Amino acid sequence: MTLLHLRRLAQSILLLLAGLGLAGAESANLDDAFALLEKKYGFMKPEENPQVARVLRVFDRVRDVADKRGNRMPRLFVVNQPDEPWAFALPDGNLLLSAGAVQLATRNLSQEAGDARIAFILGHELAHLAKNDFWDSDGHPLPAGLRPRRNATADAQAGLAGREAEADDLGFLYAAVAGYPVQTLFSSGQGVRENFFALWNDRLRAASSAASHPTPEARETAARARMDRLDEGMPLFRFAVRLAHFGSCELAIRLLRQYLRIFPSREVYNNLGACYLELAREEMGSPRGEGKSAFWLPVWFDGASRAEPLLAGWRSDRSGEGKQPLAPMLSDPPGRELELAVESLEQAAGMDEAYLPARLNLATAHHLRGDPLKARAAMEEAARLVPDNREVAGWLALFRHLDGQGEGVGNTLLAPLTRLAGRAGAPASLLFNHALALRKAGRNSRAAWTRLASGAALLPAPYAKTVCAQIRKSCAKPPSRKGVLPTPPWPLPIAPGADLDALQRDRILDGWRVTHLGGTHDRQQAVIHRQGAKSEILALDGYVTMVALRGISLGSAAALTGKLGTPRDSRRVAEGEVWHFSPRWAVLVRDGQVREAWVVHGLP
Ligand SMILES: [Zn+2]
Repeated sequence: MTLLHLRRLAQSILLLLAGLGLAGAESANLDDAFALLEKKYGFMKPEENPQVARVLRVFDRVRDVADKRGNRMPRLFVVNQPDEPWAFALPDGNLLLSAGAVQLATRNLSQEAGDARIAFILGHELAHLAKNDFWDSDGHPLPAGLRPRRNATADAQAGLAGREAEADDLGFLYAAVAGYPVQTLFSSGQGVRENFFALWNDRLRAASSAASHPTPEARETAARARMDRLDEGMPLFRFAVRLAHFGSCELAIRLLRQYLRIFPSREVYNNLGACYLELAREEMGSPRGEGKSAFWLPVWFDGASRAEPLLAGWRSDRSGEGKQPLAPMLSDPPGRELELAVESLEQAAGMDEAYLPARLNLATAHHLRGDPLKARAAMEEAARLVPDNREVAGWLALFRHLDGQGEGVGNTLLAPLTRLAGRAGAPASLLFNHALALRKAGRNSRAAWTRLASGAALLPAPYAKTVCAQIRKSCAKPPSRKGVLPTPPWPLPIAPGADLDALQRDRILDGWRVTHLGGTHDRQQAVIHRQGAKSEILALDGYVTMVALRGISLGSAAALTGKLGTPRDSRRVAEGEVWHFSPRWAVLVRDGQVREAWVVHGLP
């Protein structure tokens, strides 16, 4: 800590103490100030108070997603002052929160709604830290970029209010990205008198100058605008997942990069990384020159954004066409896919210490980069998160083997895989890697390949090809009982491939919401149309490139396979699967329900 740092910290503490009415604080030095605060009120310990433990858990999660300044990890101290609700960010990167604030935010509320309020308060303070604007008052030295241009008090006040509004906006976003139901801030829905912005504002006293804060109405309006932006951007995430599953990662990456500007959450970074992985694998041909003897490595997309539950039931009052594109689409330098994959996946993993997909994907990315040690470490982390998951245990055995210098397959890999694959219901990736390990060890692998080919497990196309080659059978899937349907068995609002202008777009899509995305990498104009929560269309240069249906009316997964037989190809996503019934259409299945159906035409 530099001298300047110390001085700033001391100033903040002194102002804080003066604000709190602690006489004699002016003459105290830094150590005395902390001691005084601790002596007068005390810091509450998580092991002595479950409420404080809860607040600290929320803090950890919000801190993980917040922008950070420098390398220092912010810490939170809960000050045992139950009468006054307040929160402060200190220049040394630590936060102070009063017990009164915890009271106010959680009283008479469900745990969920209370946590969302705590997350918002802490997110607001972390935003001040990230922006280098600590709790401040006149006379407090501000960083050059934030100094008001003129010294007029009105201007200084306006600058302050602007920073408060910005901290609100970021705090709201951090809380949402960390997975808290921020929509409950607008109304508790439990008979508590009003929404949180008004409640917090009413009680904002103590050392903070209420005049520098936006009115509760302004705060609520700004938060609603943030929700509207999320709502507007949500289809970007969904179309990116869909495009990736039809092999259009180039376009998917562009949509994800746009969505990142709206909702920079772990699942967005994860899917971005997974897309770069797919591109890298395409570019490398067979992974690391191993051809048909390549193991089945995890690449998991996440089918659900954390923004989705926030927006369930959200009614935006924005209507009509947004002619302005959301933001320019960014291009990535070519040939850097693996680097970009690792970068995105590390970001995703860092934002949530319990997030499995990013760790699985990171292991694959490090392996493809030729870094078996890091690949193994990422998989060890994944396995710690789900100790009973056999699929992940199988990959752990594989990555440990790949990291073992010159050890034979027989010793390090075959034994654990045989044990894991032995029991019924083994996942396809495990059976596949077991069969391959048998073959590499020079053992008879035919029974293992036949078990895979029997169709009990659904295989992604490249692995199905290897299986078929091993047992010297045609790779064609047995035709499904009813033959292949060219489109899904539900009515589509518009035919894929349709020319929207020829069809008089305005008439056909009357009442649909429009989001203009601007130009894609090959200069096509991308537009998303959506009708309520049920149907979404991605149009490129005026042609319908993808139609997506959503909702419970799509029925159960069992009903669909009962009608159409097994799908041609199945791919795992976090908490679900994507089943392809034809090269042109697929469904997203979760918890036994068909959640979405996707139909494409002429994808780039
Ligand atoms: Zn503030």
